[in-house]
Amino acid sequence: MLPAAGAAFGQAGPAARPQPPRGHQLQLQFRALRLPQPQAALPANSEIEVSVSARNIRRLLSFQRYLRSSRFFRGITLPNSSNFLDDDYNGQAKCMLEKVGNWNFDIFLFDRLTNGNSLVTLTFHLFNLHGLIEHFQLDTMKLRRFLVMVQEDYHSHNPYHNAVHAADVTQAMHCYLNEPKLSQSLTPWDILLSLIAAATHDLDHPGVNQPFLIKTNHYLASLYKNTSVLENHHWRSAVGLLRESGLFAHMSLENRQLMESQIGALILATDISRQNEYLSLFRTHLDKEDLCLEDENHRHLVLQMALKCADICNPCRTWELSKQWSEKVTEEFFHQGDVEKKYCLGVSPLCDRQTETIANIQIGFMTYLVEPLFGEWARFSNTKLSQTMLGHLGLNKASWKGVQREQSNGGDDTDPAFEEMDSDVVPQEQRLS
Ligand SMILES: [Zn+2]
Repeated sequence: MLPAAGAAFGQAGPAARPQPPRGHQLQLQFRALRLPQPQAALPANSEIEVSVSARNIRRLLSFQRYLRSSRFFRGITLPNSSNFLDDDYNGQAKCMLEKVGNWNFDIFLFDRLTNGNSLVTLTFHLFNLHGLIEHFQLDTMKLRRFLVMVQEDYHSHNPYHNAVHAADVTQAMHCYLNEPKLSQSLTPWDILLSLIAAATHDLDHPGVNQPFLIKTNHYLASLYKNTSVLENHHWRSAVGLLRESGLFAHMSLENRQLMESQIGALILATDISRQNEYLSLFRTHLDKEDLCLEDENHRHLVLQMALKCADICNPCRTWELSKQWSEKVTEEFFHQGDVEKKYCLGVSPLCDRQTETIANIQIGFMTYLVEPLFGEWARFSNTKLSQTMLGHLGLNKASWKGVQREQSNGGDDTDPAFEEMDSDVVPQEQRLS
């Protein structure tokens, strides 16, 4: 069923204007306290050098939408990435989809079996599984075209923020939607928005974070006034593809607009620098035991929390999967650090391959961001899945601590940088996005 027009999904979350983060959840990012401080702007050796450097940086960030349109105008046709492999691989991929609700689902294997089409294949399957195609009378050709465009707008050369991460988040979101508390109260509309938001939540991610875009004066930073720059871009890119595909052209304008704003509320919730706002609101409801999933606003807050969990659930997967994600995200951070060094931009926290290690980054990430979020989620949904996730989280953290101890030759395994950190003294532009 379509929701009543004007339903206030966006109002479920915290106020639209971001507040400075409080507490220690972002302490992870403040390892800069023992690193050279990033410069607020490009080096001011000379005006000419600055402008040349800024241009070079912008060239590095060639967004996919630009590439796609330039290909279009040059008359070059895109390879059809919906081509699938032979029956054998196809059969194995189908077999895997029978267990798509399993927390041990190996998205890397699934991506190989589908010839790099995990996001299209998985999301299409989930639309079918949840009865969304029938319920919303979707044209399957348009749906597939939309999903192919989504997949192509992820940057395949990003080590982490690529279509496989989007597919992984969508699979996790499906697992959360199946949790008893949610599945009993969700409408097809809620499920539709959740899956679209999960699949598009990092669309056209450039592989660098918000502080990087701000300090290189990227146009997106000024367009979105240095606030949730990437998340706003992911959302607006998703809206662009929804309109371009005509997937919901048969719906009323009112409902399409509602869909776009509600997808925005979900995607904007994935801004990790605002985690404390969402977490505090969620925690307050849990403390008061007043969450009522009949209430649309409450339900949508829970979906925002679910998407946040899905987005940073890597440490809650099995060690084999989790370790691969850790390596990929670190590779992306270090690549940013390399670019920052090359252009004398000041290396961002967590991005210096000379001083950081995967183990240190992961332990900080788990302690200050993942554990608080999943702790509250388990209070809301105390199920076997939540216990499994917390179990993996504990084991994975212990494994990284073991690695950390080995690397420091049996020294103290806690990083003093975390203990000394104080989020209130660190300027906004140093925060990780
Ligand atoms: Zn993400």
